[in-house]
Amino acid sequence: MRKFCGKGVYGALAVGKATFVKCRETEICRCEVSDIGEELSRLEKGKAKAAKQLAQIYERALREVGEDNARIFETHMMMLEDEDYNESIRNIIRTQSVNAEYAVFVTGENFASMFSSMDDSYMKARAADVKDISQRLCECMASRHKRGTVPKEPCIICADDLAPSETVLFDKDNVLAFVTGKGSENSHTAILARNMNIPAVVGAGKEFCEFAKDGDIVAVDGYTGEVFVCPDKATLEMIEKKQKADMEKKELLKNLKGKENVTLDGRRINIYANIGSVDHVGAALFNDAEGIGLFRSEFLYLESSDYPDEERQFSVYKRVLECMGGKKVIIRTLDIGADKRADYFGLENEENPALGLRAIRLCLEREDVFRTQLRALFRASVYGSLGIMFPMIANEWELDKVLDICDSVKSGLKKEGTEYSTSTEIGIMIETPAAALISEKLSPKVDFFSIGTNDLTQYTLAVDRQNPLLERFCDTHHEAVLELIRMTAQNAHKHGAWVGICGELAADTSLTEVFLRMGIDELSVSPSYILKVREAVRSIDLGSPE
Ligand code: PEP
Ligand code: MG
Repeated sequence: MRKFCGKGVYGALAVGKATFVKCRETEICRCEVSDIGEELSRLEKGKAKAAKQLAQIYERALREVGEDNARIFETHMMMLEDEDYNESIRNIIRTQSVNAEYAVFVTGENFASMFSSMDDSYMKARAADVKDISQRLCECMASRHKRGTVPKEPCIICADDLAPSETVLFDKDNVLAFVTGKGSENSHTAILARNMNIPAVVGAGKEFCEFAKDGDIVAVDGYTGEVFVCPDKATLEMIEKKQKADMEKKELLKNLKGKENVTLDGRRINIYANIGSVDHVGAALFNDAEGIGLFRSEFLYLESSDYPDEERQFSVYKRVLECMGGKKVIIRTLDIGADKRADYFGLENEENPALGLRAIRLCLEREDVFRTQLRALFRASVYGSLGIMFPMIANEWELDKVLDICDSVKSGLKKEGTEYSTSTEIGIMIETPAAALISEKLSPKVDFFSIGTNDLTQYTLAVDRQNPLLERFCDTHHEAVLELIRMTAQNAHKHGAWVGICGELAADTSLTEVFLRMGIDELSVSPSYILKVREAVRSIDLGSPE
């Protein structure tokens, strides 16, 4: 047995067989494919994308470091088109019926070792280039391969790291737990695991990925972050005992179902659920959510291989509203970018994606995509009590522009005689320090604010939420973050807007009283945390001094 320690991101336990979804050293999977034509076409598309990137890099290098130094990228462009190189890739795809990434990887390795063994020092140095170009080509094709559909039987998904777009595609019924070598607590993969009620440990370390093998029995403790590979009898017994106690505790919390979210001195608060898909609505209702406080609509885009059209979106939003039977449903518009990427958007790689073209910025740049989503949302609004929420607002003009586009979408619907609900609430996420600081100007224009503490913390403390190495610098209780929340709550109420928190901090019961005293009206948490937060609310007496 070996024990590894990471960060538990969803408190639950599991024991099962490990299934690795990435080849560990190379991060390239070998997958058998049935459609060879599709792989060849993916290869061509990947090549076109890589060529475009290289041309841009070449131009930039030419400007910044001169012709001599830029020449290397010219060589890369030539290699990408090299007939021997390409024929080798195509041959591997055809003869072995494998995915294009794997064929590129094998070709890159073969050519690199061929170059390394040459006497000519110029040719020797080309080994690194062919590896580099193969890596780029793989990256240009990577996320199209649906690794997420892997488990055919119940297993523990292990990976070096997982992207949200991969996690969302797993067949949840067969995922007992997630363990990743890298990753951080507030990454979207961790959030998804929580929304899916799946025990998860992130940051278990590179060594875990090197040590554990496919098929090994693994025990996962999502509370402590411990992962046991090939656990001995005593460890298995200990995990089973904890599992039993965990179930009993969760059963006890069920007694709170049907009870009000009210403090001892009578202050009521709404406790809503965060969901990432229509499939999570069941868990929200089962856990007694009074509404949906955050539907991360971008997962609809991440699940697809092309833009989901208006009809597809309309049917999903309608279903969520219908299932929630008149309870509030807040749907956040597309928050793609940073770690949430869909290839078909064709976005350029960015140096600082968290500060880049994401969320509302992307929607304002790609108004056609935004308008399609808004049409679907307003059309669905007649099926329940809808709130539409816009992510990553940092400027007042962004909100003004968004409101103009909403008006134009609504008048378009009206003109064609399509119904929409005039009582649809409009809100924004407060997840940039800028938005919190100008919240007094923003609040008269909206019905509600929802504070996204995951990003608000990241941007206030300048700590990348994806980077597990920065954990000790990422103090979610930092007074600057709490002050921005307090200020936002006060400014919302000044102009009659309500204010909630939908970031992960909303489920931190050590802060529930602080939030209530700040005047927070709603807490939106992963479905499995609803009853825990209800228990906390019901034990607080705001009448007694702080
Ligand atoms: C947040 O930033 O707190 C939030 C809820 O949005 P996301 O985690 O999806 O970025
Ligand atoms: Mg956010």
